Amino acid sequence: MLILGLESSCDETAAALVTGERQVLAHRLAGQEAAHRPYGGVVPEIAARAHVEVLQPLVEAALDEAGVALADVDAIAATAGPGLIGGVMVGLVTGKALAHAAGKPLIAVNHLEGHALSPRLADPDLAFPYMLLLVSGGHCQLLLVEGVARYRRLATTIDDAAGEAFDKTAKILGLGFPGGPAVERAAAQGNARAVPLPRPLKGSPEPHFSFAGLKAAVARAAPDHAAADVAASFQQAVVDCLIDRTRRALRVADGATALVVAGGVAANGGVRAALQALAAEDGLRFVAPPGWLCTDNAAMIAWAGAERFAAGLTDPLDTAARARWPLDPEAEKVRGAGV
Ligand code: ATP
Ligand code: MG
Ligand code: FE
Repeated sequence: MLILGLESSCDETAAALVTGERQVLAHRLAGQEAAHRPYGGVVPEIAARAHVEVLQPLVEAALDEAGVALADVDAIAATAGPGLIGGVMVGLVTGKALAHAAGKPLIAVNHLEGHALSPRLADPDLAFPYMLLLVSGGHCQLLLVEGVARYRRLATTIDDAAGEAFDKTAKILGLGFPGGPAVERAAAQGNARAVPLPRPLKGSPEPHFSFAGLKAAVARAAPDHAAADVAASFQQAVVDCLIDRTRRALRVADGATALVVAGGVAANGGVRAALQALAAEDGLRFVAPPGWLCTDNAAMIAWAGAERFAAGLTDPLDTAARARWPLDPEAEKVRGAGV
């Protein structure tokens, strides 16, 4: 089985070819950091235009690199949401056009499902169900991944996502954009105990995350401390919150075969090391995809497509792009929007 994957939900344009046997034959990625840097964040209109310009050439480059033709592909998987709607529409419409032209099925992939299943592309032994900490630029959730298209959300953030907190901290500290890797580099030079910062919701009987108070505390502390110390103390506070909430979720929901992390923040070495230690505490296997598979890419979309295709799940060509699209609609109903 061979799947072409397309990703365009934020500021990365990407195309990849992945087989059902987990071979990544090609993965092409065009970042837009330079275009957005002057604004200190992603500008949706600039992002959408950039996707239009580079997606088609990326698809051709990926096909060339893999040495295959569109006719060799079994299905085309495109991110259909959630994300910046203009960008999502570019990728989905491109996927539909390719599917229509080549007479191949379309698979409309939830970007979060791409992140959620990416650890199974990296690790053939990772079986369902697993406890997933999904930490990215727009989300911070704990999910019991019971199978393809079967996600039980146990916790989410009541305000900011963890990645968002990294990005805002980078901005406060003048470390530039994108913020996560810059904060991690600065943190490596700093003292994590130098700046007292809160651990919002740590120890709470509620399952959720919160990072807005931490960000505000960083803004208050920044003028009086070295940037590296603030970065290190901030990163440690995030790690402490992630670990506390994940430990609680592991106690509540049993049956998980592994502790798994995915999403852009999963690229962070401190986050990975702390989760690995937590898994060891519980005698659980720990799985984290390699860094390039944590941040946005099309290989994870192609892989989610492969998993869905194998399960017989394809989508009609009139499938709509969605700015919002929860992985677990039941949890969304109970908690209300955003929580
Ligand atoms: P979502 O997946 O929720 O729609 P997104 O696609 O924008 O959001 P990702 O690409 O999955 O998010 O992740 C990007 C986020 O990961 C950014 O907030 C970025 O700062 C953060 N990030 C990337 N690398 C690191 C790192 N090494 N340490 C901490 N955070 C990081
Ligand atoms: Mg990005
Ligand atoms: Fe993402």
